[in-house]
Amino acid sequence: VKEAGRNNFHFYTGEMNAHALRWMSLEVHLRHAVERNELRLYFQPQVSLADGRVTGVEALLRWQSAELGMIPPGDFIPLAEDSGLILDIGTWVIEEACRQMKAWHAKGLPPMTVAVNVSARQFATGTVPAVVRKALRDNGVAPRWLEVELTESVMMHDSDHTQMQLNELAAMGVSISLDDFGTGYSSLGYLSRFRLDKLKIDQTFVKNITTDPRSAAIARATTALAHGLNLIVVAEGVETEGQLAFLRDMGCDKIQGYLFSRPLPVDELSVLLLEQRML
Ligand code: C2E
Ligand code: CA
Ligand code: CA
Ligand code: CA
Repeated sequence: VKEAGRNNFHFYTGEMNAHALRWMSLEVHLRHAVERNELRLYFQPQVSLADGRVTGVEALLRWQSAELGMIPPGDFIPLAEDSGLILDIGTWVIEEACRQMKAWHAKGLPPMTVAVNVSARQFATGTVPAVVRKALRDNGVAPRWLEVELTESVMMHDSDHTQMQLNELAAMGVSISLDDFGTGYSSLGYLSRFRLDKLKIDQTFVKNITTDPRSAAIARATTALAHGLNLIVVAEGVETEGQLAFLRDMGCDKIQGYLFSRPLPVDELSVLLLEQRML
């Protein structure tokens, strides 16, 4: 037992060093990721429960590093936020989403919304509306097809500054979606103050919706509240038929989750959309 404990200790410090090293080397590598074309957008469909069709996709970052392999966003977004790299990366995400929309339009695919995640740090610069306007214009994309996803934390920090930018985006015709609802410092005041179009029920509630009455109650109340404010309700992280049935019953408008599709690289998404068009 004693020996095992000592091994554990060694193992633990080894892990700590490895972790620190990995973090430092990650930052160095991440700095070059954009220039070296190592970032990719994957797209996860959102499906309307009214007719079962894909009405839009969420763009999710992937980093395919030559040295480090495939790194999921949960492992590098926090680092990108800390280091400020999220500003360049976030701009790239908005531009790439618009380039992709242009390519889909050129292929004759039916138009659909593309949602991009925009972090608090990006809003803090005050440049989000300008970046969005330029990306849309450069690619000839109508603003109504772009959706900006933000979390409650964005509205919390310097909310006047954020509100102005959201108003500007809304005036352009871009939709605004409130992500991860119920997990942050939720305040109902935000819902009336900010001009929103969509609300996404967080996957932690969806996960337990059929087994935990409290998660179900929160999801139900959130849906009623959102509908009262004329917001579209999207449930994320839908993995089972049971969850789907529950959400449908509850009046949820759209679902996103592995049950329908994982986030897909662009080629695979195009195949899925072309198949749908032929139905
Ligand atoms: P998010 O915005 O809440 O995105 C939803 C996450 O849930 C995605 O993880 C998606 O792959 C995952 N997901 C979707 N359906 C299911 C399901 O049925 N079951 C489960 N267990 N998970 C599901 P992903 O792609 O790893 O992204 C993680 C987070 O990284 C995102 O959470 C978002 O906060 C952040 N992120 C991703 N792309 C960007 C980006 O371009 N900019 C910024 N600022 N953040 C991003
Ligand atoms: Ca999101
Ligand atoms: Ca989310
Ligand atoms: Ca999340």
